[in-house]
Amino acid sequence: MTDVEGMFVELSRELRLAIDRLGVIVWADDRARAHGLESGKPFAGFAVEGTAEKVNELVRRAVETPQTGWELALVLDGKPTTVVCRTTRSGEHVAVLVSLVPQDYADAVGEASRAMNEIVGLNRELARQKTRLEESNKAVRALHGELAEHADRMRASAEVKGRLVAGVSHEFRTPLHSILGLSRLLLDEADGALNEEQRTQVAFIRNSADELSAMINDMLDLARLDADNAPMRIAQFELGEFLSAMRGTMAPLVTGNAVSLVFDPPPDVALETDQGKLAQIVRNLISNAIKFTERGMVRVTATISEDTLKIAVRDTGIGIADADRARIFEEFVQVDSALQRQKRGTGLGLPLAARLAKSLGGRIELESKSGIGSTFTLVIPMEHAEVDRYRKLQIASRTPDPARAPILVVEDDRAQMFVYERYLAMSGFQVLPARSVRDAREILKTQSPSAILLDVMLEGEDTWQFLGALKGDPATRDIPVLVCTVMNREAHARALGADEFWLKPVDADKLIRKLHAIAMGRGARVLVVDDDPTARYLVKKHLEGSSFVLLEAEDGPTGIQRAREDKPDVILLDFLLQDMTAFDVLDQLKSDPRTRQIPVIIVTSQNLSAEERERLAVNTETVLSKEHLSRELAIHRIRDALRHAGVREPIVPRKT
Ligand code: ADP
Repeated sequence: MTDVEGMFVELSRELRLAIDRLGVIVWADDRARAHGLESGKPFAGFAVEGTAEKVNELVRRAVETPQTGWELALVLDGKPTTVVCRTTRSGEHVAVLVSLVPQDYADAVGEASRAMNEIVGLNRELARQKTRLEESNKAVRALHGELAEHADRMRASAEVKGRLVAGVSHEFRTPLHSILGLSRLLLDEADGALNEEQRTQVAFIRNSADELSAMINDMLDLARLDADNAPMRIAQFELGEFLSAMRGTMAPLVTGNAVSLVFDPPPDVALETDQGKLAQIVRNLISNAIKFTERGMVRVTATISEDTLKIAVRDTGIGIADADRARIFEEFVQVDSALQRQKRGTGLGLPLAARLAKSLGGRIELESKSGIGSTFTLVIPMEHAEVDRYRKLQIASRTPDPARAPILVVEDDRAQMFVYERYLAMSGFQVLPARSVRDAREILKTQSPSAILLDVMLEGEDTWQFLGALKGDPATRDIPVLVCTVMNREAHARALGADEFWLKPVDADKLIRKLHAIAMGRGARVLVVDDDPTARYLVKKHLEGSSFVLLEAEDGPTGIQRAREDKPDVILLDFLLQDMTAFDVLDQLKSDPRTRQIPVIIVTSQNLSAEERERLAVNTETVLSKEHLSRELAIHRIRDALRHAGVREPIVPRKT
């Protein structure tokens, strides 16, 4: 037996043998022999007691007809084993194939089959789960779709609502103002006296119109806050002055002696926030307090703790039940009460006040006991967050960042400035913020920006003057100015020298692309290599007042040397030098790693041959003809060359 055969014997659980009609073994394979079934021995010899009879029975039958699946339970090598026999007859002999299945194997198979069954069961369960999951997934997807649709519809309807409110309110205002004006005229009796009854009637008309007008204003304000386009007008003012003005306007609301309006002396501090919005909130809280208080006092107390201002409006009125506390900040909600029914109102005051408080970076807190009174407290930062953020931006801009090109942004709205700052900072620019033309002038005294973004209301004479002055001053006329505005005054802006004119809103990508294109090359160093002093003088004159720094060389070798030592950003090379050809200079520049990267512009007074052009095209940026050389052309070509070479404009530290 070969080793390989041996391996199979080891693995195999089958024995093959041939027996004669009496059951005597006439041939046995190795494995059968290993179990003692050898030629000449009876097949039944390996059957243990009690089973020999069964083996003999098998032999008897096998002589007649082929047998399959004849099973015997034996103990082989001390292990309970099932023996399964198959037989087939061939002439005088019967071939027997015996399969041995030891009990532990059977157990294992049973175990495996049980496990298998379990796995099958699990698989089925899994499949069921999968189907269920798929179904619920489908449901979730459907729900998602529905939600998205809902959100879209909500957004759309919020938009429609906003537009409707704004549109309708504006439409209402005109006739309302007529009613108000006419009723005032009638009450003034300018065209003749009214009788008592008529006066009362007109006064009713007037009051109703006043109320309607207040409601429309509230609705408009809310719509504007919703659309996030209520502009912030942040300024510094004294808290004391603010509150005494407030007392002046609110005092007339208190009629009779039953209710008094008291202002506690406020701390002596300055605030920096939107005074108009603050006044709107406080007015609202005080007028509500007076409205819902039949007797007692409405007390206004301002306190400061750290950087926070609290203005508490405390009343001894009807109070608000716990259940209604949150509700009253919703639009059009009014709590039903006897007093409420006597009073007019829109249910828009508190939602508006809450939104305004939020826009100032704060909130309105409420404490109240039904029947005892309420305290509405406005809590806002003394300084609007935008102020601090803007200050930080200003401070940062005073330290030039050498890796970024500075852009002077003239924009009066802080929020818009932050938008610019975000975009520009991401794109490698540093914003120098100016909120007014005056600020911008101050900045220009010490810094030289790569470009100016002029985004201020351009109606002001001041802004047009500023643009004109910028473009008229040799020190600043080459700073590109981009005008972004809501007013279509392009012709005027262009006439004054604006390099770009865009109507707002300006696409951020477009802005960045433009800035990259125009900011290239300011402050770059240009080496002019020309042996003709007049030619050098001309280039110098052309570039005078531009932001380029000019270096000169009066012959080829000096040019090469200066290129190595001074590392200019671009070289203007005369094609016809006395001592060496432009090709020689180019060869030397391009073979030296120190100067290889510097773009070269050829300046020539003669027409070049096709061959010369071809040779030059390899190593130069472009060819400028002396004949057509102009300031614009020179500047443009230099900027192009710098852009191709990837030179970001270096910062010009200070103007001299
Ligand atoms: P309006 O005053 O126009 O009705 P508001 O939005 O200002 O609308 O107020 C909503 C509701 O909140 C009022 O109608 C009233 O029921 C309740 N409310 C507001 N302020 C007070 C207060 N100081 N005391 C009691 N209830 C108040």
